[in-house]
Amino acid sequence: AQERYASIRDLPAETKCGTRMSLQMNAGLIADLPSLAGSGAEGVGLFRTELQFLIRNQMPQRGELSALYDRVLNAAGGRRVAFRTLDIGSDKVLPYMKANDEPNPAMGWRAIRVGLDKPGVLRMQLQALLRGAAGRPLTVMFPFITQLAEFRTAKAEMDKAIDREIKLGHPIPSEIEVGAMLETPSLAFAPDVFFEEADFISIGGNDLKQFFFAADRENELVRRRYDTLDVSFLAFLEHVIKRCDAAGTPLSFCGEDAGRPVEALCFAALGLRTLSMRPASVGPVKHLLRRIDLNEVRAVMDAAITNGDQSVRRAVSDWLVYQV
Ligand code: PEP
Ligand code: MG
Repeated sequence: AQERYASIRDLPAETKCGTRMSLQMNAGLIADLPSLAGSGAEGVGLFRTELQFLIRNQMPQRGELSALYDRVLNAAGGRRVAFRTLDIGSDKVLPYMKANDEPNPAMGWRAIRVGLDKPGVLRMQLQALLRGAAGRPLTVMFPFITQLAEFRTAKAEMDKAIDREIKLGHPIPSEIEVGAMLETPSLAFAPDVFFEEADFISIGGNDLKQFFFAADRENELVRRRYDTLDVSFLAFLEHVIKRCDAAGTPLSFCGEDAGRPVEALCFAALGLRTLSMRPASVGPVKHLLRRIDLNEVRAVMDAAITNGDQSVRRAVSDWLVYQV
């Protein structure tokens, strides 16, 4: 599939109306990195670090992890890689960590909640990231941040880790960006200072959608019941976009929906400028974006919303048939 889009691989993801989009890819293993060049993605918008923990049968050591992060950055050849700290719990259970028998793991002790309550592993990972990226820019994002206080505590762990490296006389990264993943609706209503303190925000649409609609992403009976292009969800996304714009905070969307063409178009028309997706989606999404005027997409969406449609999908898809 990537050969089909080879001719546009090195061209910008710029729409017909002149809007420059940044298409990035999701990854989690060293083996994913060659797709950066192959797909034409501008960077890794989501590096799921837990995959490295999930494929082992014991907790990786700090030295192994820093060597791994160094290799990831080398393979990325200077392109930005957003390392998401360990996101375990819910659907991702480490075989060597005592599993908790929780009635509702998706809403349970997971992701940053584990990192903040038992900071040993988080500290080890932050140190490994700082060492792996020494002398180069480092981008880290914390998963499943639900409130400002959690972001501040997680960020304080990063600040402590940096101080420790400096005291030890170790070189640190040349620049450090610390962001939050917005995966629960509450974070969209955090105080303004949250949006100012986060260096960037990335919407984890898979989790966000399940909590927005109260529909388990793993449950076949309900997981396709609510459309991502439902007008309520779009209004919610637009609220997040406006808050980030007001604070001047870069925003990206990194759930599976970012790689679906109609979704990507609608997100772009709402004002999202950075989308991170599986590598195979970069070509098709770029191909489509380059042929489209976002003002027209927006007009079709607005008309559907005014009309009282539950979702804008039908209207946008019907319109699209005559465009490409
Ligand atoms: C998400 O929730 O959308 C996300 C990107 O993270 P994950 O799918 O790994 O939970
Ligand atoms: Mg998630």
